[in-house]
Amino acid sequence: MRRPGRVVALLLLLGCTTLGGGLWSGLWDGTAHLSWRDHGIARGARDRPMVALTFDDGLNGDTTLAIATILEQRNARGTFFVVGQTLAEQAPVARQLIERGHLLGNHSYTHPRPSRLDIRYADLARTQAAFDQTLGRCPRYFRPPYGLHTPWLAAAAQRAGMRLAGWDVTGWDWAETDADQLATRVLGEVQPGSIVLLHDGIDGRPGADRAVLLRALPMILDGLAAKGIAPVTLDTLLGESGYLDRC
Ligand SMILES: [Zn+2]
Repeated sequence: MRRPGRVVALLLLLGCTTLGGGLWSGLWDGTAHLSWRDHGIARGARDRPMVALTFDDGLNGDTTLAIATILEQRNARGTFFVVGQTLAEQAPVARQLIERGHLLGNHSYTHPRPSRLDIRYADLARTQAAFDQTLGRCPRYFRPPYGLHTPWLAAAAQRAGMRLAGWDVTGWDWAETDADQLATRVLGEVQPGSIVLLHDGIDGRPGADRAVLLRALPMILDGLAAKGIAPVTLDTLLGESGYLDRC
C-alpha cells in the first residue's frame, strides 16, 4: 500500500529546500555541503607546536573570567564558543575577553539540538545579530551544540561566510569530576595542531559549576608547556581572522 504521508513530506521538503535558495542552487552546481558527517575544521596543521583550547557553553560570569585569567597567567589565550542569549546580560564579560586577547565564537542562541526539518536554521543569524549588537563584530567560527549538525545547518553557515569548528581532543570535562583524570586525558591525546574541547559553562546556564576545570586547567597548561606546545586562539592556529569582515 502507498504511504501518502511520506509523499507529502517529500514534497514539503523539496518546497522548503527551494525556499532555501542558496542550498538549492548549491545542490544544482554541487557546491552545497550535504554531508551529515562533515564536522568542519577538526584540527590545525600538525607540524607547528600550537594548539587551540576551546571553551563552550558560556558566558558563565566569574567562571569564564577565571579561566581567562588562568590562561593569561601562562601567556596563553583561549577561544570561547558563546551561547548567544548570555551576551545580553554579560556583555562586559564578552568585552573583557576580547580586550584581553581571547577569541569568541558562535555556539547558537539557546543551545538547542538541531532540528532535522529546520531548513533555514535562523538560529545562526539570530546569534550573529546578538554578537553584532553587543560587540560590533561577528565570529567566523560556529560550533553547533553537541557537535551535531544537519546538511541544512552546514549550508546556512557556508552562506554566512562562517566555518564549522569541531575538535579532535575532548576531556569529557562536562562529565568528569576528577581534575587529575581530566588533565591526564587531555594531555594523553593532545598533539600539535589539536583543537581541544572544554567547557566554561553547561548549556549556557548561569552559574554552572566548573570547579573541576578550574583545577585541571593549570595542570593542562603546565603539561602543554612541558611538551613545548603553545595554546593559541583558533584563528591563530588556522592562520586567519576569527571575525568576519562584515556581519
Ligand atoms: Zn555546547
